[in-house]
Amino acid sequence: MDYNSKIYISGHRGLVGSAIDRNLQSKGYHNILTRTHQELDLTNQQEVNKFFEEHKPEYVFLAAAKVGGILANSTYSAEFIYQNLMIEANVIHAAYKNGVKKLLFLGSSCIYPKFAPQPLREEYLLTGELEETNEAYAIAKIAGIRLCKHYNQQYGTNFISVMPTNLYGPNDNFDLQTSHVMPALIRKFHEAKITNEHQVVVWGTGKPRREFMHVDDMADACVYLMENCTADDIGEFVNIGVGKDLSIYELAQLIKDIIGYEGEIVYDSTKPDGTPQKLLDVSKLHKLGWSARLSLSEGIQQSYEWYLKSR
Ligand code: GDP
Repeated sequence: MDYNSKIYISGHRGLVGSAIDRNLQSKGYHNILTRTHQELDLTNQQEVNKFFEEHKPEYVFLAAAKVGGILANSTYSAEFIYQNLMIEANVIHAAYKNGVKKLLFLGSSCIYPKFAPQPLREEYLLTGELEETNEAYAIAKIAGIRLCKHYNQQYGTNFISVMPTNLYGPNDNFDLQTSHVMPALIRKFHEAKITNEHQVVVWGTGKPRREFMHVDDMADACVYLMENCTADDIGEFVNIGVGKDLSIYELAQLIKDIIGYEGEIVYDSTKPDGTPQKLLDVSKLHKLGWSARLSLSEGIQQSYEWYLKSR
């Protein structure tokens, strides 16, 4: 990629796409192509083909996806599988047809089997049953990885796939019904603090363990891989994470302290826990030459400040 390259970021208003946009701009890339959902429906094959034929992007970040937390994933599972399959198939095929030099596909750590050994190594893909609360989304993301792999194999394309851990940061979804745990807890503790609520309800038992990465680190990793690594260097895909996890119980305590809430935390065990642990093995990423920089407490502090400004 050079600074004049035409780079298409799909999903540029989302958590990851917007962070990739900021990262590219801060590094001096200035020929960035974006379209809102209203301007281009990525589930529509004709629209996607027309867009690629007209604009001929050289590099593509495929960050557009239908995403959501544990409740949204299990409630709207048909929408999650259909929309993600359509977006991936349309964009990856159009990228191949129109000679895109390199494409980066964004997956998710939920592609791994529910009871895979921890930390999760790339080779554990498809070695066991998936977690049922996000199976539809995971199947679509696994299909995306394999699309890239098979297009590389048959057509000699350079399409790379990355599997990020749980991400958070600016432009996150703070809606309590559809969000992931990090934005949900930031909002719950903040609202409880300002309204002097004596309790905050955290879903599940608090026992599941998750790994969290600030999206600015994630975007930096994606741009680094686009700049420096080919599909041959990476193999089928590479995990992107920090290599450390904590329990939801510990996360809730940490967010509570950062926000300065003084009431109590209660656990609602009628809500699902989801997979017991999701910790990525990031040794391949480290070997490729990139590691995360932001600490969890710095990241939460930053995300909280963004939430306060955006309200
Ligand atoms: P997951 O990583 O795919 O399971 O997605 P989430 O980020 O939605 O949930 C992670 C864990 O946090 C699960 O065990 C949830 O039950 C738990 N959790 C606790 N409180 C909340 C909350 O308010 N919202 C969400 N989404 N999850 C919560």
